[in-house]
Amino acid sequence: MTTLSKQVPTFGQYLLKRYGERVHKIALDAAFTCPNRDGSKGSGGCTFCNNVSFSPNGRQPRPIKAQLTAGRRVIRKRTGARKYLAYFQAYTNTYDEIERLKALYDEALSDEDIIGLSIGTRPDCVADSVLDLLAGYQRRGYEIWLELGLQSAFDETLAAVNRGHGFREYAQSVTQARQRGLKVCTHLIAGLPGETARHNSETLRRVLELGTDGLKLHPLHVVKGTQLANSWRRGDYQPLSLAAYVDIAADMVEQTPSSVVWHRLTGTASESILLAPLWCAKKWRVLNAITNELQRRRVLCRQVA
Ligand code: SF4
Repeated sequence: MTTLSKQVPTFGQYLLKRYGERVHKIALDAAFTCPNRDGSKGSGGCTFCNNVSFSPNGRQPRPIKAQLTAGRRVIRKRTGARKYLAYFQAYTNTYDEIERLKALYDEALSDEDIIGLSIGTRPDCVADSVLDLLAGYQRRGYEIWLELGLQSAFDETLAAVNRGHGFREYAQSVTQARQRGLKVCTHLIAGLPGETARHNSETLRRVLELGTDGLKLHPLHVVKGTQLANSWRRGDYQPLSLAAYVDIAADMVEQTPSSVVWHRLTGTASESILLAPLWCAKKWRVLNAITNELQRRRVLCRQVA
């Protein structure tokens, strides 16, 4: 039986090879907001982004240290890992004064077993000062990843989902980051309104042409409290089928050189808000289907050769 890591260069395998042991990410919510909501870049947010999570009193995350302690306990019990990356995941994790960013990142790195950072953000929110700060951590030996949410390289798609940025901002950020030697993981979505497999392939081509070190892919989810949910209810948006998503993901893996690490090949939303497609709640079913499809294609290729 084949496994995903035999078919695809996964982030877990990359970390295992680099550190000689398992390293896991601990996801953090540092109470950042989003400039696509507060009017500084746009308002209303992306059409697929859940409104409820933006209610002013709905989110009071615990201090970073407490989140690391809780996350470490769960991951260690489940996987036995002893080293971790602090993953600043929720919302736009570079959207604040540089002094506050430094204080938060320093706080996370002050625990011995935190060997680096993953910083999730929008491509139009990456100031030079942030890149310099991250490059400084990297020079000190920390594992640093900048995770940029691009989703699509098509400006008309980005406008249709109200992203509030275009491909140009992504190109600038990724170039600036990589010029400083920082590793970039690019986030992409399959099944965006108006897009087909051809768009995903062209997006990937443009991302690879510019250069990236890692990729994350997930199907577009329809979740409660979003403009996309209204569109889906009216029948104006059809989510991808599992078979279509598996085909797109396998095509993209085949298109990507093995030097680029896959951080994720699917994703889901919490059951309490997920409306469609319901198959994406079964993460292992999706990953197994992608693994089997890649294996099937390779066998076929060998037979033809
Ligand atoms: S998806 Fe990200 S960028 Fe878009 S509104 Fe939500 S938090 Fe902001």
